[in-house]
Amino acid sequence: MIIKRVGGLAAVISLCAALDVVWADPAQPTAANGSVAAGSNDTSSGARPRENITKPQNITKQRDGSLLIAGRSLRCGGTRNVLDPHLPNLGLAAPGVVVFNPRQLNRWPDTVRLFVFHHECGHHHVGGDELGADCWAVKQGVRQGWLGRDSLTQVCRSFGNGPATDSHPAGAARCASLNRCFATAMAALAKEKARGTTTEAKAEPPDTGAPKLLQGPTLKRSGMRPSFDVK
Ligand SMILES: [Zn+2]
Repeated sequence: MIIKRVGGLAAVISLCAALDVVWADPAQPTAANGSVAAGSNDTSSGARPRENITKPQNITKQRDGSLLIAGRSLRCGGTRNVLDPHLPNLGLAAPGVVVFNPRQLNRWPDTVRLFVFHHECGHHHVGGDELGADCWAVKQGVRQGWLGRDSLTQVCRSFGNGPATDSHPAGAARCASLNRCFATAMAALAKEKARGTTTEAKAEPPDTGAPKLLQGPTLKRSGMRPSFDVK
């Protein structure tokens, strides 16, 4: 999700509480017909994602300000990492910050956590385009080696089967886009490898001085499922 500046982080977060949420509850990883009622914010059912056979380490913010997710120290360029256990979504991007709910994020497998981080970071590169942020995250995942074909399925599953809304593509459309981006990123990587020009992948910092999130999309509707992908 992204959100426009509304006068400080506290305001950003409190505004966010009123926003829609379209991320699947990990308690229902494969609900074929998406039977979660609109308005449900319940994430406390206790069930865990199937992938959590070995429980991943909880995400933490380190002293230097980076986030430790799946053994990786993550920063999104010059933006500030914030953990907020009261955030009603998995994450959001706002001018100067990326914010995550550690409790909700910890319910998902490592790959989904990494994807959420990079999706929000992606908003600092591509602006409010949700599919663009997804694609940016996929590209990082392929280049950094944490996203493969199997884990792509986990990410897709985490989208749930929600229908399209005014502000969001349907889960199926996001998955289709995800797959296209993955194929493109894999092909690009293979080409680079063939040329022997592969460089150590790392997230490009956002353009300094040219924030793309000063103007975010407006709220269209509210109340679905916990999500980082709200706006
Ligand atoms: Zn988003």
